[in-house]
Amino acid sequence: MMASTFWRQFRLGLTFPVFLASLAVPGVSSASSEAAVFLTSGQLKVQIDQIAAAHPDKVKVLDIGQTLNNSHLYVLQIGTGKPNTPAVLALFGQHADEHEGTNLALGLTRWLVDKAENYEAIANELNKVTIYIAPMINPDGMDYDLRDPDDHPGWRKNRSPQENAEFGVDLNRNWGAFWDAPTGSKSLSARIKDSADPNYRGSRPFSEKETQALRGFVLSHSNIRMFVDYHTGSANFMQGAVLLPYSYGGQAVPSAAKLCAEQLPDQFASAISNREDSRKPFRAVQANRMNALAVEQSPALLKPVMWAATPTSNASSGTAIDWTASNGLCSMGVEISLRNPQSGRQLESRLIEDQSHGLLLLLESLTAKPEREKNGG
Ligand SMILES: [Zn+2]
Repeated sequence: MMASTFWRQFRLGLTFPVFLASLAVPGVSSASSEAAVFLTSGQLKVQIDQIAAAHPDKVKVLDIGQTLNNSHLYVLQIGTGKPNTPAVLALFGQHADEHEGTNLALGLTRWLVDKAENYEAIANELNKVTIYIAPMINPDGMDYDLRDPDDHPGWRKNRSPQENAEFGVDLNRNWGAFWDAPTGSKSLSARIKDSADPNYRGSRPFSEKETQALRGFVLSHSNIRMFVDYHTGSANFMQGAVLLPYSYGGQAVPSAAKLCAEQLPDQFASAISNREDSRKPFRAVQANRMNALAVEQSPALLKPVMWAATPTSNASSGTAIDWTASNGLCSMGVEISLRNPQSGRQLESRLIEDQSHGLLLLLESLTAKPEREKNGG
């Protein structure tokens, strides 16, 4: 298994040497410690029901669809939920092995509702805006990944049956914008069409129940102006990256600058960075240039192991941020590096607070955001 710990999928499709982190913290990815910490879909449901029961005036659990294995897809609504109140949708757990994202979603939910009890400013924001938190959008894959982690470590896709007796689609390659666009390299283009590959994009755009449910939710909630897709697979030499559309290999001008307030992505990256952290802070970067950012952040370590590549050679087609941006949302991806690998990859409360600052910044900016405009896709 040494080879697979050496090279691990960067969650938006970049192959990346996470061995750096492994060298720093030996034994970090013990499957048993992850299983003890992370939630199955059933355990998640118990927790979100408890939160909603404790805060019936603030939190509502929405059921937006079902998976092939009959797991329900839940969205937590915090704030008024009125159709005319602008909203941000925060998505967690598209990739089945990124269990930390679900923990983060619950931590952010609790932070928002608990702090709002005590801080008038937050309560005030939540009266003007709505935040939708989708804590686990790939429950079939996550349950599978947790069920027998030694047999299938790092399962990424969902569990829908595919051709050649394979299972699963990479949900973040299945969205219907630039789904069939060329990616940056021939090998990646071949891989996303291979049903056995962890990055398999599916037989057609929105072929999967999970992406269908999210598409329906976004299209039926015109109050959603912003979208943040959280991924928790980043490497440890930096706190992480804020990824802006587009992810695919084309050279289109990124829409984030147009759809978000001018400086918002940079401000968001700054808000979620922790200055006491010795690692490099979050940086906002166009998603298909993540490779270049990584080399820039740690040139001495990464240049020898990154293959000779154009900056966009690991571009990704069919991603959530590209589809939502194409539908007029201010869209960002967040790649979060693990805060405290020593403690079984469990998130520290400080990280949740850091990330909460970013959400509050987005909520504040929403009140000044013009109506969302559709521009195709
Ligand atoms: Zn991911």
